[in-house]
Amino acid sequence: MAATIIDGKKVAADIKVELKKEVEELKSKGVNPALSVVLVGENPASKKYVANKEKTCEALGIKSVAYKLPESATREELLKLVDDLNADPGIHGILVQLPLPGHMNEKEVMHRIAPEKDVDGFGPDALGRLLLDEPGFVPCTPHGAMKMLEAYGVDPAGKKAVIVGRSVIVGKPLALLLLRKNATVTICHSKTPDLKGECLSADILCVAVGRAQMVKGDWVKEGAAVIDIGINVNESGKLIGDVEFEKAKERAGWITPVPGGAGPMTIAMLMYNTVEAAKAGLKA
Ligand code: NDP
Repeated sequence: MAATIIDGKKVAADIKVELKKEVEELKSKGVNPALSVVLVGENPASKKYVANKEKTCEALGIKSVAYKLPESATREELLKLVDDLNADPGIHGILVQLPLPGHMNEKEVMHRIAPEKDVDGFGPDALGRLLLDEPGFVPCTPHGAMKMLEAYGVDPAGKKAVIVGRSVIVGKPLALLLLRKNATVTICHSKTPDLKGECLSADILCVAVGRAQMVKGDWVKEGAAVIDIGINVNESGKLIGDVEFEKAKERAGWITPVPGGAGPMTIAMLMYNTVEAAKAGLKA
């Protein structure tokens, strides 16, 4: 039987409806949620992501403040900008779009963002809290993946979850979130000897590698939930995922499309974190 297609756009839209109400409520209490988005250089994909984030902010009534630095900007200039935004009481969230140019140290920048404004959740405070099961900003893409499973009634408890990819922004935090929901979790990477065998054992298979259709349709267990996080561009300029979607959907129970799955959810969860950051301002 063909899989249920997980409609990330729809799940994201539902989340955004709720967030818009929360933004209105915050505004009525005198808090104007604001996200600053910092873009360094001219990476076309980054420019597109930043534009999408700005557009979504606008749609939800969140103030978006863009800072565009040239590729030639120095490390010190970027750190000074982050320091200024950290100190600005009118800014609730700070997002520095990755990747940064080679002469900048991404880790250093992530460490510099104030924990209470780290809406991407990539800094040590947010990631430490995730590991400790303490409340904090959850990285947006893994959070979005969990929300999609939840929206379609896929409960990770007692299931075998396999994640392909161990990045700090997707694979590792997603493993912690699935573990928190009582899945038994395996993380695979480029040195995993039997990737196909690992994938085939998964009730929940999440793929975040960045290699077009590397997970073949026959690597998917019958009835599994498949979350494809990869974004790749094929020869005709079309966006495709890391999973061979057409074949995988014949075996999976649920599957996310690319585009229209993890992408829209990532932005929705960024908005969620920004609203949470603004709410914290209210409590303070
Ligand atoms: P990284 O490049 O940081 O990590 C890729 C991971 O894939 C690494 O852990 C690497 O293993 C693993 N890998 C590479 N080749 C293989 C292989 N042949 N077999 C098994 N594992 C392999 O990528 P990200 O996590 O940042 O992103 C992954 C994908 O997700 C990209 O396509 C990215 O564009 C997309 N993405 C999408 C988002 C969205 O909003 N939809 C947000 C973020 C990312 P090793 O560690 O051993 O090198």
